[in-house]
Amino acid sequence: MVHSRIVLCMLSAVFLSSVTAIGQAGYALREDDRTMRYTSRPAEQARAWQRDVRAKLAALLRIDDLLQNKSNIPLSPKKLSSVDKGSYTVEELEINSTGNRRIRIIVTLPAAQGKPMPAVVCIGGHGSDLYSPYDEEIVSKDATKAQADRIYRGFGTALANKGYVTISTTVSQHEIYEKDRLLMGERLWDLTRCVDYLGSLACVDRSRIGCAGLSLGGEMAMWLGGMDERIAATVSAGFLTTMEHMEQNHCMCWKFDGLRELVDFADIYSLTAPGPLQCQNGMKEPVSQFYVPLAREAMEEVRTIYRDMGKPENVLLDVHEEGHVIDLPALLGFFAQHLEIAKKEIVFLPGRQSHGWSGHAYTADCKLLAQILNENVPTVEAVVIEGGWPKDVKILDGAAAIVIACDGNGLLGPESNWQALDRLARKGVGIAFLHYALDPGKEYGKYLLDWIGGYYEQFWSINPSWLAEFKSLPRHPITRGVQSFKVEDEWYYHMRFREDMKGVTPILTAVPPDDTRKGPDGPHSGNAAVRARMGMGEHVAWAFERPDGGRGFGCTGGHTHWVYAKNDFRMLLLNAMCWIAKVEVPTNGVLTKTPTVEQMEANLEGDRPQDWPPERTRQTIEEMNRQ
Ligand SMILES: [Zn+2]
Ligand SMILES: [Zn+2]
Repeated sequence: MVHSRIVLCMLSAVFLSSVTAIGQAGYALREDDRTMRYTSRPAEQARAWQRDVRAKLAALLRIDDLLQNKSNIPLSPKKLSSVDKGSYTVEELEINSTGNRRIRIIVTLPAAQGKPMPAVVCIGGHGSDLYSPYDEEIVSKDATKAQADRIYRGFGTALANKGYVTISTTVSQHEIYEKDRLLMGERLWDLTRCVDYLGSLACVDRSRIGCAGLSLGGEMAMWLGGMDERIAATVSAGFLTTMEHMEQNHCMCWKFDGLRELVDFADIYSLTAPGPLQCQNGMKEPVSQFYVPLAREAMEEVRTIYRDMGKPENVLLDVHEEGHVIDLPALLGFFAQHLEIAKKEIVFLPGRQSHGWSGHAYTADCKLLAQILNENVPTVEAVVIEGGWPKDVKILDGAAAIVIACDGNGLLGPESNWQALDRLARKGVGIAFLHYALDPGKEYGKYLLDWIGGYYEQFWSINPSWLAEFKSLPRHPITRGVQSFKVEDEWYYHMRFREDMKGVTPILTAVPPDDTRKGPDGPHSGNAAVRARMGMGEHVAWAFERPDGGRGFGCTGGHTHWVYAKNDFRMLLLNAMCWIAKVEVPTNGVLTKTPTVEQMEANLEGDRPQDWPPERTRQTIEEMNRQ
């Protein structure tokens, strides 16, 4: 009957509907065969079913004794080779699998040490070895094998390049190594030991270990993801089907005594629930192989337990255009979603530098802050986009916050760009304006009032330089960890705020010296309203909460690049960037090291003044932090 089904399909697509009917009939027959078939039930009972099935399968696989005795088997790793690949190292090692047998593994370790990283067990299929999931250039010398291994799309290398720890061993053997063991049991056990090895590494975040494989490797990913509860996310490519289908046209190494009576593949996949599971099947898989319509049927069954456990979104079938290969973008996207810590993007848009070597040095300012954010806030991805307002505004689509530092309206320019940014603000994107960017002219001031709650209004605000002393700071996430400080800069003040300061929280307030108020009337020098406020406090940095929940921040200082060397001021700005991006500000603020001379001088444009050797930068940094 099944053979006739295949022939029918090859004859004509017209028969497809009848084929499905036959397929479903075959399906119905199998249901009675499975004593542990998963059927819908409450979440707690679903968990009990998983425990029960895992125990039964471990016994059938003849690995239950190994599982019980695992703590008595040391890994005893022995490094055989190590190759530096720049951003990561490839190591080949030997570890104990059982007490009597050692296995060879490949491990890639990111060069950047620091916070623990996610890890993935990479698994090849028939004909593969431990090198197969990696880029041919990196590990395989043999051209024929390299060609055969292309189906893996070098997914191990792709993950290593993205900073994952990866591990691989060979599971394609068909001989049984140890007496009284089972082929599938030994394959699964070796992979379990790979997870043990990952768990022994300080650079691995044990709560973020995934597994992925293709074909027999996809099958082993199913087994590992289902049986080993340490696996946090599973990608099983080129395998999802039914056992009935696997009875034809396939190597029978998947089968062992008692398996079919107990479960079908859908049930083994159901053991991964509610953990994230992605199955991949290619449209070009022939009907005799891992045929998409059959995968869809099996996936319908797997969905049941995910629904019961309240996580229907955690299981998906990726149907791609190709055949029996890894869909690399889907694999990477899936692990990014489930194993990487979600990062929020903060985009800096600096305008052109305009006041000598270290004044209005917006690019240097933004690059310094972005670099410090990236090095110190793991949940932030800061990006600096140079060259003016982006030609394609779509580049800003992923931003959680946008920071603008420029002269006047030197960055946005025509109203259409202001409208584009307004659309982003309305979607909740946080916005900050620094220094002269706060003064884009009255016609655009209305946007700043909407986005950040205040702006520099000519003939109302003024721009003197003075020593601002911030004696007390309000309680606000932006001031976390910041001590009162004073710093000399061009602090514009008497800003135009929203009526009654609605939504505006002053962050930095100081009393300017009276003589700064005495300039003659003009767009930047003075006016009667400013003169009438002798001795009064002025707000030079503020936070804004928009009625729709979006956030804004304004800071009038930042004329000179050197103010960013001041630890308290820099912390306040970094806190503000996080806050507008809705990234939780640490209890003690974004604590960062005082920048070095090299860091401070990096990206400054134009010629260094003759009277400013690096030593003077060093002194400036020191003096900034002495006050
Ligand atoms: Zn086989
Ligand atoms: Zn300035």
